Amino acid sequence: MTDKNQTKYIFVTGGVLSGLGKGVMAASIAAILKARGFSVNIQKCDPYLNVDAGTLNPAEHGEVFVTDDGAETDLDLGHYERFLDTNLTQESSLMTGRVYQHIIDKERSGAYLGKTVQLTSHLCPEIQNLIIHAGKGFQVHVVEIGGTVGDYEGLHFIESIRQMKRKVGAENVLYVHLVYLPYLSTSKEIKTRPAQYSVKDLRNLGIQPDIIGLRCDYPIKKEQIAKVSTFSDVEEQAVIPLPTIKSVYEVPLNLEKANLGDYIVKKLGLKNGEKDLSTWVELNKKVQSEGKTKLTIGLVAKYLSNEDTYKSINEAIKAACWKEGVEPILKWIDSEEIERGKTESLLGIDGMIILPGFGSRGIEGKITAARYAREQKIPYLGICLGMQISVIEFARNVAGLKKANTQEVDPKTPDPVIHFIEEQKKNIYEKNYGGSMRLGAYDCKLKKNSFIYKLYGEEKISERHRHRYEFNNDYLTQFENLGLKVTGINPQYNLVETIEIPDHPFYIGIQFHPEFKSRPYAPRPLFVGLVRAAKIHNESLEKKRQLVK
Ligand code: GLN
Repeated sequence: MTDKNQTKYIFVTGGVLSGLGKGVMAASIAAILKARGFSVNIQKCDPYLNVDAGTLNPAEHGEVFVTDDGAETDLDLGHYERFLDTNLTQESSLMTGRVYQHIIDKERSGAYLGKTVQLTSHLCPEIQNLIIHAGKGFQVHVVEIGGTVGDYEGLHFIESIRQMKRKVGAENVLYVHLVYLPYLSTSKEIKTRPAQYSVKDLRNLGIQPDIIGLRCDYPIKKEQIAKVSTFSDVEEQAVIPLPTIKSVYEVPLNLEKANLGDYIVKKLGLKNGEKDLSTWVELNKKVQSEGKTKLTIGLVAKYLSNEDTYKSINEAIKAACWKEGVEPILKWIDSEEIERGKTESLLGIDGMIILPGFGSRGIEGKITAARYAREQKIPYLGICLGMQISVIEFARNVAGLKKANTQEVDPKTPDPVIHFIEEQKKNIYEKNYGGSMRLGAYDCKLKKNSFIYKLYGEEKISERHRHRYEFNNDYLTQFENLGLKVTGINPQYNLVETIEIPDHPFYIGIQFHPEFKSRPYAPRPLFVGLVRAAKIHNESLEKKRQLVK
């Protein structure tokens, strides 16, 4: 007899190359199932020996995504949240280091009763338990396995998911494998050979895929699908072409075009519900619409080498622009170049964001940029470190505290306007996952007469955090008297969360990260506010240009 409450598992692996968009594929599968009314959870298994993503370098690895419960995770969780519109938890991020840590702790406390602790007998069941636990209570649980099949690094996950078929029943498991088809320009053909080898690798590890996704930069023909089907033993209808597209948000619709939703539902014996893809259809209309006014948003940062470093902020700005019917031009501004006197890059922007960050590199350049935005009345949003920069800039150039700084950069500054609060270590930091920061969701109470209140439309909001230093309340009255207003407070610990300069078209600093809760179809209010202000700025510049003509 089949158990109605049995969770169905969909495992997503990848082959040939890394960076194919497995995260987007996993998230899109979850999204189309959610659009049919199923309850869906999603999880990423990462081969790294890190315990979490907290210490990874965002310039190399991409942003550290933070969940409501304060987990520091891989950026794929950001895709998942944006596609699934759910607030995920620590359970959705399973890094190898965390499993090892758990097993070693158990071994030290004598939990294995004198047995030898081994990969297959102890690590794999532990991984399976963590997968099953995360999927509990959901109809479908999508699990992405990081890395590329065949990597030595990820073998423990592949072996764990192979065994899942027996553990939970073959009828409750599907394996999806994403491969890459290269294009040879000399012979003008798409080659399937590397994909063939990748499927072979997967089979050697005991897994026969049920569905194959074909990533390719060129349109894929029927013959190629047939060929892949023949060598992989996957039905043609389950070989899904995924040519490169303009926006990742097209993927759910493309999967539906290939009828993947129906196929999965049938294969897993789920009762098919009405599907409602209207969110995706609407979003894509906005994304694809042409001829929109272009807005240049300057992003002042220290790392510029990798688009993924500030992934959620990119997505949040784009989403706000889609909502407002404008097209964003994201202009990356190197704060160190500003420091070296190259300030031309600040010219011609319609809005500015000073991005989050750690350490002292590029700080002075960011302070110069914030001053420019304040004095030239450029719409401005300072996120986390960006807010701290605004406070330092105001302290130095308006309050005349020339040596004001954050203790992160200058521990001995005579005016620590941003400082480290010792008691927070015990009260807050130690409650986090081994962290030393204020992490995850905290409440913020907004002042009713503020601009930010108008944007959110409510007094009590909750946003996510990831930082160590705080606004120093000793300077609060002095700064307020000079025109920098504190408009949001964390009521539990009396911490400043938001600042504004009312005598400016749009100048807001926030200690939290609104980007993490922004969705492509529901951008967070602060980004919408910035884009609206940038639009007005752009229009007034346009008018001036007309007058000059
Ligand atoms: N470095 C700052 C702090 O720790 C800001 C962190 C951030 O921007 N996320 O307080």
